[in-house]
Amino acid sequence: MDSDGVFVMELRWDPVLGEWVMVSNVRSARPWQPASFCPFCPGTEETGYGWKALILENKFPMLIESPPKPSVHRFYKTASAYGKCYVVVETPEHNIDDISDLAIEQIAYVISLIINKQEEESKKDYAKYFLWFRNKGREIGVSLVHPHSQIYVIPFIPIRVLRELSNAERYWYENKRCLFCDIIEIEKEDGIRVLLENNDWVSFMPFYTHWPFEIHIYPKKHIQLLTQLTDKEIMQMAQILKYSLCGLKSVFSKSMPYVMVLHQAPLKGDFNFYHLHIEIYGMLREESKLKYAAGMETGGGNFTYDSVPEHNASVLRERIKMCL
Ligand SMILES: [Zn+2]
Ligand SMILES: [Zn+2]
Ligand SMILES: [Zn+2]
Repeated sequence: MDSDGVFVMELRWDPVLGEWVMVSNVRSARPWQPASFCPFCPGTEETGYGWKALILENKFPMLIESPPKPSVHRFYKTASAYGKCYVVVETPEHNIDDISDLAIEQIAYVISLIINKQEEESKKDYAKYFLWFRNKGREIGVSLVHPHSQIYVIPFIPIRVLRELSNAERYWYENKRCLFCDIIEIEKEDGIRVLLENNDWVSFMPFYTHWPFEIHIYPKKHIQLLTQLTDKEIMQMAQILKYSLCGLKSVFSKSMPYVMVLHQAPLKGDFNFYHLHIEIYGMLREESKLKYAAGMETGGGNFTYDSVPEHNASVLRERIKMCL
């Protein structure tokens, strides 16, 4: 509720940058809870018992299936906040630091739950995009420590994905090849930024890395959606995710805060020129020194990199080796 007691949940169009902003004041209605209470532990009203991982509806969503009517403005464009926000509780165990501490089978199980959810959500009219992401670390504002990630089912295509789609489409028509397949090939040829590889996946710090310890994880097979993965590829994805994140965690003595996101094609339409991948942004540039997206990055939109990716990749690769 805002100061007038009005419930607002809508999309507002930024005509200057050409992108949507999700507006909701539902979070300010968050009920008081004791600091020791964990809503994701087994045995709460929502979670119950007897599960290995769970997908719950987010209690403070930015998007819902039946949103209130958006406000009408004489100049600005608005739209209904149609969609869905979920929390993925990745384990019943509260005191696990990161998904890299989970068994490969458990991570694969979590991924398969997410895939089922995507299949179910793809049928909904509002579902244009399915974004799975994970925020890790108090430094970047994660207040609930119980291992969890989030899903946003969105009625539009996120702006970064739109940029990737447009560049990949142009590359596809100019070169008759997939931009991402070519990046995988070049990164493997260069080798110095490759972090880990298994049968079906490769993990590397790209040539054009933005964040200090950025990891991109690609399936070698040219696919667009999570739902195209086979069981074997899901297991291999869990393996490369576990060890890439384990290495990331041990770069410094303090666990690395990061944001992880899965980029895939929009749920409806033909995007054969696109290639699914995971991006992980490790945000410490030195022991206890957080890289901020500040003036140049937030204000200008371009990143500055205070090292060279080849150096940081070699540090991270050594850490990953120690995890194996
Ligand atoms: Zn918990
Ligand atoms: Zn490809
Ligand atoms: Zn991407």
